[in-house]
Amino acid sequence: MGLLNDKFAIVTGAASKNGLGKSTAKLFAEQGATVAILDLDQAAAEAAAAELGAQHVGLACNVTDKEGCFSAVQKLMETWGQIDILVNNAGITQPLKMMEIEPKNYDAVLDVNLRGTLYMTQAVIPHMRERKSGSIVNISSVSAQRGGGIFGGPHYSAAKAGVLGLTKASARELAPDNVRVNAVCPGFIATDITAGKLTPEMMETILAGIPMARAGEARDVAGCCLFLASDLSAYVTGSEVDVNGGSLI
Ligand code: NAD
Repeated sequence: MGLLNDKFAIVTGAASKNGLGKSTAKLFAEQGATVAILDLDQAAAEAAAAELGAQHVGLACNVTDKEGCFSAVQKLMETWGQIDILVNNAGITQPLKMMEIEPKNYDAVLDVNLRGTLYMTQAVIPHMRERKSGSIVNISSVSAQRGGGIFGGPHYSAAKAGVLGLTKASARELAPDNVRVNAVCPGFIATDITAGKLTPEMMETILAGIPMARAGEARDVAGCCLFLASDLSAYVTGSEVDVNGGSLI
């Protein structure tokens, strides 16, 4: 018996080979959910969905495009008839310092991380409200909580802090309809974002700040998303859950 039997889940940005989204989609499928992987490239999204099994769906969707988000959700509703879970995972980062941030950098990072989270949430809300049931999980970051890191610039911290505000506001607004909204704040997780980009010295500095003295793995984040997506967390909304090996202790 899976924790997500008979559930239909959307995970954005889940086509990346070693990413958090893909690992989350895989765990959801293992727990009985039917999953839609939304990502920029149709072929990559389809390939990632096919890895999970024939019933899963891959769709091209740029989360910065409101119409694209609504039409992807509409397509899924026509096939599935319901959407139970949304994981807003699509995100980008840029390792810039304050004075290096140009308007185009600010727009790009805010658009994907924050605007995309809003648009996808708006697209699923009417369907979740109608059924008085749903769980939305927004992927924020430790960068929102402590300001920056090796990979994220101030604009990334701002975007991910915005995601926390959006999480709490939408959780409050949607709670009467039994639609829960929570945020996950991953710390340093080894994915393609980090692969091959760290010198041994950088790695040493990072690990020195993590009491558990290891990088997180994508499945560490996936497990937390599973808890928040499933009925195990039926009375949890508006929360931010840290998955960071104790980095903020
Ligand atoms: P990743 O680069 O492996 O995956 C990100 C995915 O988002 C990619 O598949 C990419 O194609 C997709 N994407 C980018 N722009 C998009 C758009 N406009 N529309 C749809 N999809 C788009 O990154 P990851 O490490 O797996 O990160 C996943 C999430 O976790 C991101 O939101 C990231 O900010 C967050 N995060 C990661 C870490 C970490 O250490 N890896 C830490 C904290 C938070």
